[in-house]
Amino acid sequence: MPWLTPVLEHFGQALDQGRLPHASLVTGERGVGKRQLAERIAALLVCDRRTPGMRAPCGECRQCQLRAGESHPDIRLYQPEKSRMIRIDQVRSLSQFAVASPQVAGVKVAIVHRADQLNINAANALLKTLEEPASDVVLLLLQETGRPVLPTIRSRCRILPVAIPPAEEATAWLATELNTSEGAPDPERQALALYLAGGAPRLAMELLESGFLDQRDAALDAFRQFMKGAITVAMTARAFRDLGHEATLNLMEGWANDLARVMAGGLARDPGIAEVVRYLAQSNPPWRAQQLVDAIRDSRRALVNNVNPELETDRLLIQWRGLMPGRRRSAG
Ligand SMILES: [Zn+2]
Repeated sequence: MPWLTPVLEHFGQALDQGRLPHASLVTGERGVGKRQLAERIAALLVCDRRTPGMRAPCGECRQCQLRAGESHPDIRLYQPEKSRMIRIDQVRSLSQFAVASPQVAGVKVAIVHRADQLNINAANALLKTLEEPASDVVLLLLQETGRPVLPTIRSRCRILPVAIPPAEEATAWLATELNTSEGAPDPERQALALYLAGGAPRLAMELLESGFLDQRDAALDAFRQFMKGAITVAMTARAFRDLGHEATLNLMEGWANDLARVMAGGLARDPGIAEVVRYLAQSNPPWRAQQLVDAIRDSRRALVNNVNPELETDRLLIQWRGLMPGRRRSAG
Protein backbone atom coordinates (compact mmCIF):
# COMPACT_ATOMS: atom_id res chain seq x y z
CA MET A 1 0.00 0.00 0.00
CA PRO A 2 2.33 2.72 -1.26
CA TRP A 3 0.03 5.56 -0.15
CA LEU A 4 0.73 4.68 3.48
CA THR A 5 4.46 5.32 3.03
CA PRO A 6 4.41 9.09 3.79
CA VAL A 7 2.49 8.57 7.07
CA LEU A 8 4.75 5.69 8.04
CA GLU A 9 7.78 7.85 7.27
CA HIS A 10 6.40 10.65 9.42
CA PHE A 11 5.86 8.25 12.31
CA GLY A 12 9.23 6.57 11.78
CA GLN A 13 11.07 9.88 11.96
CA ALA A 14 9.40 10.75 15.26
CA LEU A 15 10.39 7.32 16.54
CA ASP A 16 14.02 7.73 15.39
CA GLN A 17 14.24 11.13 17.05
CA GLY A 18 12.82 9.87 20.33
CA ARG A 19 9.78 12.11 20.18
CA LEU A 20 7.21 9.44 19.72
CA PRO A 21 3.77 10.56 20.91
CA HIS A 22 2.06 8.39 23.53
CA ALA A 23 -1.09 8.47 21.53
CA SER A 24 -1.76 8.95 17.84
CA LEU A 25 -5.08 9.35 16.10
CA VAL A 26 -4.95 7.79 12.64
CA THR A 27 -7.72 9.40 10.60
CA GLY A 28 -9.02 8.59 7.14
CA GLU A 29 -11.85 7.22 5.04
CA ARG A 30 -13.20 3.75 5.65
CA GLY A 31 -11.08 1.19 3.79
CA VAL A 32 -8.10 3.46 3.16
CA GLY A 33 -5.79 1.19 5.20
CA LYS A 34 -5.77 2.75 8.70
CA ARG A 35 -5.73 -0.60 10.44
CA GLN A 36 -2.98 -1.95 8.22
CA LEU A 37 -0.97 1.16 8.99
CA ALA A 38 -1.52 0.73 12.75
CA GLU A 39 -0.51 -2.93 12.57
CA ARG A 40 2.62 -2.02 10.65
CA ILE A 41 3.55 0.62 13.23
CA ALA A 42 2.91 -1.86 16.06
CA ALA A 43 5.09 -4.45 14.32
CA LEU A 44 7.88 -1.91 13.90
CA LEU A 45 7.64 -0.83 17.55
CA VAL A 46 8.04 -4.33 19.00
CA CYS A 47 10.71 -5.60 16.58
CA ASP A 48 13.94 -6.43 18.46
CA ARG A 49 16.19 -5.53 15.56
CA ARG A 50 14.79 -2.10 14.89
CA THR A 51 17.42 0.47 14.00
CA PRO A 52 17.02 4.14 13.02
CA GLY A 53 15.74 4.55 9.49
CA MET A 54 13.98 1.20 9.54
CA ARG A 55 10.38 1.43 8.39
CA ALA A 56 9.48 -2.27 8.27
CA PRO A 57 9.99 -4.93 10.96
CA CYS A 58 12.81 -7.45 10.37
CA GLY A 59 10.35 -10.33 10.15
CA GLU A 60 12.77 -12.77 11.76
CA CYS A 61 13.28 -11.96 15.43
CA ARG A 62 11.24 -13.60 18.17
CA GLN A 63 8.93 -10.58 18.43
CA CYS A 64 8.27 -10.64 14.70
CA GLN A 65 7.56 -14.36 14.80
CA LEU A 66 5.13 -13.97 17.67
CA ARG A 67 3.43 -11.18 15.82
CA ALA A 68 3.22 -13.15 12.60
CA GLY A 69 1.43 -15.85 14.58
CA GLU A 70 -0.98 -13.10 15.69
CA SER A 71 -0.26 -13.97 19.30
CA HIS A 72 2.02 -11.17 20.39
CA PRO A 73 1.04 -10.52 24.02
CA ASP A 74 2.15 -6.88 23.93
CA ILE A 75 0.00 -5.88 20.96
CA ARG A 76 -3.72 -5.61 21.60
CA LEU A 77 -6.55 -4.69 19.28
CA TYR A 78 -9.78 -3.25 20.69
CA GLN A 79 -12.74 -2.96 18.36
CA PRO A 80 -16.53 -3.05 18.48
CA GLU A 81 -17.76 -6.60 18.87
CA LYS A 82 -21.38 -7.57 18.42
CA SER A 83 -22.65 -4.16 19.40
CA ARG A 84 -21.65 -1.26 17.20
CA MET A 85 -19.80 0.42 20.01
CA ILE A 86 -16.65 -0.26 22.00
CA ARG A 87 -17.84 -1.02 25.53
CA ILE A 88 -16.48 0.23 28.83
CA ASP A 89 -15.24 -3.21 29.89
CA GLN A 90 -13.08 -3.29 26.76
CA VAL A 91 -11.57 0.06 27.71
CA ARG A 92 -11.03 -1.16 31.30
CA SER A 93 -9.12 -4.10 29.87
CA LEU A 94 -7.09 -1.63 27.78
CA SER A 95 -6.33 0.46 30.88
CA GLN A 96 -5.03 -2.60 32.73
CA PHE A 97 -2.94 -3.58 29.74
CA ALA A 98 -1.53 -0.04 29.58
CA VAL A 99 -0.22 -0.07 33.17
CA ALA A 100 1.04 -3.68 33.28
CA SER A 101 4.65 -4.47 32.34
CA PRO A 102 5.30 -5.63 28.79
CA GLN A 103 5.52 -9.42 28.66
CA VAL A 104 8.09 -9.99 25.97
CA ALA A 105 8.76 -6.73 24.12
CA GLY A 106 10.13 -3.42 25.35
CA VAL A 107 6.89 -1.66 24.65
CA LYS A 108 3.15 -2.34 24.54
CA VAL A 109 0.89 -1.20 21.72
CA ALA A 110 -2.86 -0.82 22.02
CA ILE A 111 -4.82 -0.28 18.81
CA VAL A 112 -8.35 1.09 19.15
CA HIS A 113 -10.01 0.33 15.85
CA ARG A 114 -12.82 2.85 15.67
CA ALA A 115 -12.16 5.39 18.41
CA ASP A 116 -15.23 7.03 16.89
CA GLN A 117 -17.32 4.13 18.16
CA LEU A 118 -16.67 4.52 21.86
CA ASN A 119 -19.77 5.00 23.95
CA ILE A 120 -19.58 7.95 26.32
CA ASN A 121 -18.54 5.93 29.37
CA ALA A 122 -15.91 4.09 27.36
CA ALA A 123 -14.61 7.39 25.97
CA ASN A 124 -14.29 8.87 29.46
CA ALA A 125 -12.48 5.77 30.69
CA LEU A 126 -10.07 5.97 27.77
CA LEU A 127 -9.47 9.62 28.56
CA LYS A 128 -8.05 8.64 31.95
CA THR A 129 -5.46 6.39 30.28
CA LEU A 130 -4.61 9.18 27.85
CA GLU A 131 -4.19 11.70 30.64
CA GLU A 132 -1.75 9.58 32.63
CA PRO A 133 0.08 7.49 30.08
CA ALA A 134 2.57 4.85 31.22
CA SER A 135 5.93 5.41 29.54
CA ASP A 136 6.05 2.00 27.87
CA VAL A 137 2.70 2.05 26.10
CA VAL A 138 1.81 3.44 22.68
CA LEU A 139 -1.84 4.03 21.83
CA LEU A 140 -2.97 4.04 18.24
CA LEU A 141 -6.55 5.23 17.88
CA LEU A 142 -8.26 4.96 14.52
CA GLN A 143 -10.97 7.34 13.38
CA GLU A 144 -13.12 7.06 10.30
CA THR A 145 -13.62 10.34 8.44
CA GLY A 146 -16.92 11.99 9.26
CA ARG A 147 -17.35 10.16 12.57
CA PRO A 148 -16.64 12.38 15.54
CA VAL A 149 -14.20 11.58 18.33
CA LEU A 150 -14.54 13.36 21.68
CA PRO A 151 -12.48 16.61 21.43
CA THR A 152 -10.85 15.86 24.79
CA ILE A 153 -9.53 12.58 23.33
CA ARG A 154 -8.51 14.16 20.06
CA SER A 155 -6.55 16.93 21.75
CA ARG A 156 -4.36 14.37 23.53
CA CYS A 157 -3.33 12.64 20.33
CA ARG A 158 -0.97 13.40 17.51
CA ILE A 159 -3.09 13.35 14.36
CA LEU A 160 -1.87 11.10 11.53
CA PRO A 161 -4.11 11.63 8.51
CA VAL A 162 -4.15 8.94 5.81
CA ALA A 163 -5.23 10.39 2.47
CA ILE A 164 -7.13 8.62 -0.30
CA PRO A 165 -4.52 7.83 -2.97
CA PRO A 166 -4.84 9.21 -6.50
CA ALA A 167 -7.12 7.04 -8.67
CA GLU A 168 -4.25 5.73 -10.84
CA GLU A 169 -2.31 4.59 -7.79
CA ALA A 170 -5.38 2.90 -6.29
CA THR A 171 -6.21 1.21 -9.60
CA ALA A 172 -2.67 -0.06 -10.05
CA TRP A 173 -2.62 -1.45 -6.51
CA LEU A 174 -6.00 -3.13 -6.93
CA ALA A 175 -4.98 -4.74 -10.21
CA THR A 176 -1.81 -6.15 -8.63
CA GLU A 177 -3.59 -7.40 -5.51
CA LEU A 178 -6.40 -9.05 -7.42
CA ASN A 179 -4.31 -10.55 -10.18
CA THR A 180 -4.80 -14.23 -9.37
CA SER A 181 -4.34 -17.32 -11.50
CA GLU A 182 -7.75 -16.60 -13.06
CA GLY A 183 -6.49 -13.18 -14.07
CA ALA A 184 -7.43 -9.70 -12.88
CA PRO A 185 -11.11 -8.75 -12.72
CA ASP A 186 -12.70 -6.63 -15.40
CA PRO A 187 -11.29 -3.05 -15.25
CA GLU A 188 -14.83 -1.65 -15.40
CA ARG A 189 -15.78 -3.60 -12.28
CA GLN A 190 -12.63 -2.40 -10.57
CA ALA A 191 -13.46 1.20 -11.44
CA LEU A 192 -17.01 0.75 -10.15
CA ALA A 193 -15.75 -0.80 -6.92
CA LEU A 194 -13.35 2.10 -6.41
CA TYR A 195 -16.14 4.58 -7.05
CA LEU A 196 -18.46 2.82 -4.58
CA ALA A 197 -15.62 2.75 -2.05
CA GLY A 198 -15.12 6.50 -2.37
CA GLY A 199 -11.62 5.85 -3.72
CA ALA A 200 -10.50 3.80 -0.69
CA PRO A 201 -8.50 0.90 -2.15
CA ARG A 202 -8.90 -1.67 0.66
CA LEU A 203 -12.62 -1.15 0.76
CA ALA A 204 -12.78 -1.49 -3.04
CA MET A 205 -10.95 -4.80 -2.76
CA GLU A 206 -13.37 -5.96 -0.10
CA LEU A 207 -16.32 -5.02 -2.31
CA LEU A 208 -14.86 -6.96 -5.24
CA GLU A 209 -14.06 -10.05 -3.18
CA SER A 210 -17.20 -10.24 -1.09
CA GLY A 211 -19.75 -10.44 -3.88
CA PHE A 212 -20.99 -6.99 -2.90
CA LEU A 213 -21.04 -5.79 -6.49
CA ASP A 214 -23.48 -8.54 -7.49
CA GLN A 215 -25.73 -7.70 -4.56
CA ARG A 216 -25.52 -4.07 -5.51
CA ASP A 217 -26.51 -4.92 -9.10
CA ALA A 218 -29.55 -6.78 -7.77
CA ALA A 219 -30.50 -3.85 -5.52
CA LEU A 220 -30.04 -1.37 -8.36
CA ASP A 221 -32.19 -3.49 -10.63
CA ALA A 222 -34.95 -3.70 -8.01
CA PHE A 223 -34.66 0.05 -7.41
CA ARG A 224 -35.19 0.81 -11.12
CA GLN A 225 -38.24 -1.46 -11.21
CA PHE A 226 -39.57 0.17 -8.07
CA MET A 227 -39.20 3.68 -9.46
CA LYS A 228 -41.28 2.61 -12.48
CA GLY A 229 -43.92 1.31 -10.12
CA ALA A 230 -43.37 -2.27 -11.27
CA ILE A 231 -42.64 -3.76 -7.81
CA THR A 232 -43.62 -2.98 -4.22
CA VAL A 233 -41.62 -1.30 -1.48
CA ALA A 234 -41.36 -4.62 0.37
CA MET A 235 -39.93 -6.45 -2.66
CA THR A 236 -37.43 -3.66 -3.26
CA ALA A 237 -36.37 -3.46 0.39
CA ARG A 238 -35.68 -7.20 0.31
CA ALA A 239 -33.12 -6.67 -2.46
CA PHE A 240 -31.37 -4.07 -0.31
CA ARG A 241 -31.40 -6.21 2.81
CA ASP A 242 -28.53 -8.40 1.57
CA LEU A 243 -26.34 -5.32 1.32
CA GLY A 244 -26.78 -4.37 4.95
CA HIS A 245 -28.07 -1.02 6.11
CA GLU A 246 -24.80 0.90 6.06
CA ALA A 247 -24.06 -0.10 2.48
CA THR A 248 -27.65 0.69 1.53
CA LEU A 249 -27.21 4.18 2.92
CA ASN A 250 -23.89 4.63 1.17
CA LEU A 251 -25.40 3.56 -2.11
CA MET A 252 -28.43 5.81 -1.76
CA GLU A 253 -26.27 8.72 -0.65
CA GLY A 254 -24.18 8.27 -3.79
CA TRP A 255 -27.34 8.29 -5.90
CA ALA A 256 -28.75 11.36 -4.14
CA ASN A 257 -25.44 13.14 -4.70
CA ASP A 258 -25.55 12.07 -8.33
CA LEU A 259 -29.03 13.56 -8.58
CA ALA A 260 -27.77 16.85 -7.14
CA ARG A 261 -24.83 16.77 -9.53
CA VAL A 262 -27.02 16.19 -12.59
CA MET A 263 -29.45 18.90 -11.46
CA ALA A 264 -26.47 21.27 -11.33
CA GLY A 265 -25.56 20.36 -14.91
CA GLY A 266 -22.93 17.73 -14.06
CA LEU A 267 -22.71 14.00 -14.71
CA ALA A 268 -23.68 11.05 -12.52
CA ARG A 269 -20.68 9.16 -11.12
CA ASP A 270 -22.50 5.85 -10.77
CA PRO A 271 -23.23 4.76 -14.34
CA GLY A 272 -25.94 2.37 -13.11
CA ILE A 273 -28.12 5.18 -11.82
CA ALA A 274 -27.39 7.77 -14.53
CA GLU A 275 -30.58 7.20 -16.52
CA VAL A 276 -32.86 7.34 -13.45
CA VAL A 277 -31.33 10.53 -12.05
CA ARG A 278 -31.39 12.23 -15.46
CA TYR A 279 -35.11 11.56 -15.60
CA LEU A 280 -35.68 12.76 -12.02
CA ALA A 281 -33.55 15.86 -12.57
CA GLN A 282 -35.85 16.99 -15.38
CA SER A 283 -38.97 16.90 -13.25
CA ASN A 284 -37.80 18.06 -9.80
CA PRO A 285 -36.46 21.28 -8.28
CA PRO A 286 -32.88 21.09 -6.93
CA TRP A 287 -33.90 21.26 -3.25
CA ARG A 288 -35.45 17.82 -3.66
CA ALA A 289 -32.00 16.28 -3.97
CA GLN A 290 -30.87 18.04 -0.80
CA GLN A 291 -33.99 16.80 0.98
CA LEU A 292 -32.98 13.25 0.08
CA VAL A 293 -29.41 13.75 1.23
CA ASP A 294 -30.77 15.06 4.55
CA ALA A 295 -33.13 12.10 4.93
CA ILE A 296 -30.24 9.70 4.36
CA ARG A 297 -28.16 11.56 6.93
CA ASP A 298 -31.04 11.25 9.44
CA SER A 299 -31.17 7.52 8.74
CA ARG A 300 -27.46 7.21 9.40
CA ARG A 301 -27.87 8.92 12.76
CA ALA A 302 -30.84 6.69 13.56
CA LEU A 303 -28.74 3.62 12.79
CA VAL A 304 -26.41 4.44 15.69
CA ASN A 305 -29.44 4.34 17.97
CA ASN A 306 -30.39 0.89 16.73
CA VAL A 307 -33.63 1.78 15.01
CA ASN A 308 -35.18 -0.86 12.78
CA PRO A 309 -33.02 -0.65 9.63
CA GLU A 310 -35.69 -2.15 7.40
CA LEU A 311 -38.17 0.56 8.28
CA GLU A 312 -35.51 3.13 7.42
CA THR A 313 -34.96 1.55 4.01
CA ASP A 314 -38.73 1.58 3.36
CA ARG A 315 -38.93 5.22 4.38
CA LEU A 316 -36.10 6.23 2.05
CA LEU A 317 -37.49 4.21 -0.85
CA ILE A 318 -40.86 5.93 -0.48
CA GLN A 319 -39.12 9.29 -0.48
CA TRP A 320 -37.27 8.41 -3.69
CA ARG A 321 -40.46 7.33 -5.32
CA GLY A 322 -42.02 10.64 -4.32
CA LEU A 323 -39.71 12.24 -6.89
CA MET A 324 -41.40 10.41 -9.76
CA PRO A 325 -43.80 12.70 -11.63
CA GLY A 326 -47.41 12.08 -10.68
CA ARG A 327 -46.40 10.57 -7.33
CA ARG A 328 -45.34 13.71 -5.58
CA ARG A 329 -48.67 14.47 -3.99
CA SER A 330 -48.77 11.19 -2.09
CA ALA A 331 -45.20 11.66 -0.88
CA GLY A 332 -45.97 15.12 0.53
ZN1 LIG B 1 11.92 -8.25 14.19
